[in-house]
Amino acid sequence: METNDPPSTKSGVLTPSQAQSDWSPETVLSKLDHRPQTNSTSPVSFFHALERLKTTKREGWRRFNIVHGESIADHMYRMSIMTMVPPPSLATRLNIPHCTRMALIHDMAESLVGDITPMDGIPKTEKSRREELTMDYLCKSLLGNVQGGLPGEEIRKVWREYEDSETLESKYVHDIDKLELMLQMVDYERSYGGRVDIGEFTYVSTRIELPEMREWADQILAERNAFWASIGQTPSDGAKEYYGKT
Ligand code: ZN
Repeated sequence: METNDPPSTKSGVLTPSQAQSDWSPETVLSKLDHRPQTNSTSPVSFFHALERLKTTKREGWRRFNIVHGESIADHMYRMSIMTMVPPPSLATRLNIPHCTRMALIHDMAESLVGDITPMDGIPKTEKSRREELTMDYLCKSLLGNVQGGLPGEEIRKVWREYEDSETLESKYVHDIDKLELMLQMVDYERSYGGRVDIGEFTYVSTRIELPEMREWADQILAERNAFWASIGQTPSDGAKEYYGKT
């Protein structure tokens, strides 16, 4: 089933065929009513292809029956704005417009790959292979003839930098990726009035690299604890379980 089917608790679940290593962009493209036109000198086909980022839901929430949850584009939008408000000590060391661009691009491959989570049992190498193929499709097949291929090359380069996670900018955006998830966790728990406990995602706070970003994580976790205390309940805590295991 396609990940951007109308929301239901079952939609977006990867079928066995999708979990196989013969996946290619063609696996998804062959099922589309309107395939984007390749090798065009106009970027309009590429713009259409991006719609899937607006309609494909982030997967992690579905297990908790949050079926009308955020899309991949929703997630990248808040991240992009977050990159513009760095802690002062980081602001002087970062190329902020570059970070904003990276946040806008980093999950673009999910437009065809879908949002693969650790629960899907797909190895990281296979996930990377699919994302590489999708970025080639978007940046070369759809954008290769647009303005001499330069915008496509630039997008591909920024995506690669994020994946390699070696530059300060890419580490910052990786941390923002985790912080955005934590914010959404608290947003959902509050909006469901405590009927949904998504605390297993607090474990991402243990993976935050930059000390300045840890402060934001601690603040979000403190907000979460305050919310649950206010309704007289003790929530689950994935971070605690994570440390318990190590
Ligand atoms: Zn992301």
